Amino acid sequence: MKRPLSLIAVLVLCISVCFAGQRPKYIFMFIGDGLGINHVYGTELYNAAVHPEKPNGGKMSFYNFPIRTYVTNYSSSTLVTDSSAAATALAAGVKTVNGYMGVDSDKRSVKNITELVSELGMKVGVVTNVGMNHATPSAFYAHHESRSAYKSLYEQYLTSEVDFAAGAAILLKKRDGLKHEDYVAQAKAAGIEVVHDLDKAANVVGKRVLLLPENPQSKTLKYANDCKPGDWTIVDYTDSAIKYLEREAKRDGFFLMVEAGHMDYCAHDNDAVTTFEEVNHLSDSVAKALEFYNRHPKETLIIVTADHETGGLSLGYTNYKMNMERLAWQNGSVSSLTRKMQRFRDDGKSSWEDMKLLLTRELGFWEGVRLRKKDEQQLRKTFEKSFIENSDKVVSLYNVNEKMASTAIEILNKRAYIKWISLNHTGMQVPLYIKGAGIEHLTECYDNTDVPKGIARALGKKLAE
Ligand SMILES: [Zn+2]
Repeated sequence: MKRPLSLIAVLVLCISVCFAGQRPKYIFMFIGDGLGINHVYGTELYNAAVHPEKPNGGKMSFYNFPIRTYVTNYSSSTLVTDSSAAATALAAGVKTVNGYMGVDSDKRSVKNITELVSELGMKVGVVTNVGMNHATPSAFYAHHESRSAYKSLYEQYLTSEVDFAAGAAILLKKRDGLKHEDYVAQAKAAGIEVVHDLDKAANVVGKRVLLLPENPQSKTLKYANDCKPGDWTIVDYTDSAIKYLEREAKRDGFFLMVEAGHMDYCAHDNDAVTTFEEVNHLSDSVAKALEFYNRHPKETLIIVTADHETGGLSLGYTNYKMNMERLAWQNGSVSSLTRKMQRFRDDGKSSWEDMKLLLTRELGFWEGVRLRKKDEQQLRKTFEKSFIENSDKVVSLYNVNEKMASTAIEILNKRAYIKWISLNHTGMQVPLYIKGAGIEHLTECYDNTDVPKGIARALGKKLAE
């Protein structure tokens, strides 16, 4: 005779059903390229001063995630990682040599999280605002000992598990002898729908999608603070990817990696305002995932992290002060200021008075932002060298800027009491925020490799273990 369940047994059953970890069906991984802890907090301080209209006093959309921690990110070759070794760690849970992509230190291919989730029937999205075969996105679909083997990385994308891909361009190398159109033709031949429209990309049914600008003029989308209405952003890309995946992956779920990659470029340029505005776009992209989370709260996992810190950003460096309000005067990125100065150079307008007018208009100098005598002397000296003697360009990893533009931005940063210690990456730990289903498998993240391993465990699988 069957015995009826006792009250205690029923209670135990209820508790275990209600509180057992829910396997995530929808997984988001956001990677801010170069996003250090100070980039996040600096953006919040900047928002409080410059954008008081933003919700929650300008805090990030992910500020209150239940897990807010930091992880180490060294590579197997050095304490200061590059993007490809860090992306390999975040994608596959394996440490590798700087410059390697989806392979271990012995150049053996390592399984990544997108390969693992596709075995479970889940769809995959890989989205970035820089080249779609640049370091971070490539680590989620390719394996190569060189991050700059763009042709091979792209070819691996064609046969990969990625259902929805979006980027600013396909990165090319002259010596490969292929043009943008050739690569697009290859994608079409592989059965991929190549789309140049955000809504069309979102609405493709039953096929893989590659979303790109029609005639990419640049390797990146525009900086957040250079965008005009209608310009595409990483927020738009995230939105299109979510709409596509929410419909196409209804049955088995998805994994979506979104890289806010352009923020690394302006951090390499030590341009604080542009970096903060790029971080705001990352926050707005995560907000899109949070809207999705609200529709599927029990099945959605959201992770926000970074590959490394760029620039050694310091908030305050003297006098126990900060003055973020002064940053409100900056009109666009250091790259756009460079372009304006180049036009100024081409016009043959080389008077100091004209340059002063440009700096007043673009950065508020002498009007909104009072300059110290030594600031003005530095600007004047740089002007003489750059525009009268015609020398001096500033070369950072991705951009060549006018020395005058870089110097002016550096002075504005200092007037806000912000300083950068490097034009490159640092070995600082990076932030990690986690919310949602399966979070209990990610409570012990100390290193970037722990993140994909935790996702795999949440799915009842193993990666690099
Ligand atoms: Zn990076």
